[in-house]
Amino acid sequence: MEDSKKKPIMIGVIVICLVLAGVITFATRSRDSGGLESLERGVMYWVKCNNPDCEHTWEMDRKDYFQYLKDHQDPMSMAAPGIACDECGEESGFRAEKCEQCELIFTRGTVPHDFADRCPDCSHSKTERLRKEARTRQD
Ligand SMILES: [Zn+2]
Ligand SMILES: [Zn+2]
Repeated sequence: MEDSKKKPIMIGVIVICLVLAGVITFATRSRDSGGLESLERGVMYWVKCNNPDCEHTWEMDRKDYFQYLKDHQDPMSMAAPGIACDECGEESGFRAEKCEQCELIFTRGTVPHDFADRCPDCSHSKTERLRKEARTRQD
């Protein structure tokens, strides 16, 4: 008797979960595409080819960059896809930063377990500088 009473409840719970999952997926998906379309042009991102024989760097509009990621994202992989490099033709371009101190252009996340924009040459990080400034303003 107990089991036959539990079953409809279990099915009900599963159905609610499925509906919720569908709603969440739909909401996230529509927010994503809306976000990309509403993104304004004019913000440039640095991209660096990580082919050691090439190391070409170029600038890309943030909107084109996200559009490229969206079009080329492998659904089985969490890693960002490489961007086709104009110089060597490999899909090995990854988002980079230009150090505001020594002007080196380097791939984001070069220094592990640190800010993505930590310069591997002079150790400057824009994120760190902004955080420090925000902290001093609060004091
Ligand atoms: Zn290249
Ligand atoms: Zn630097």
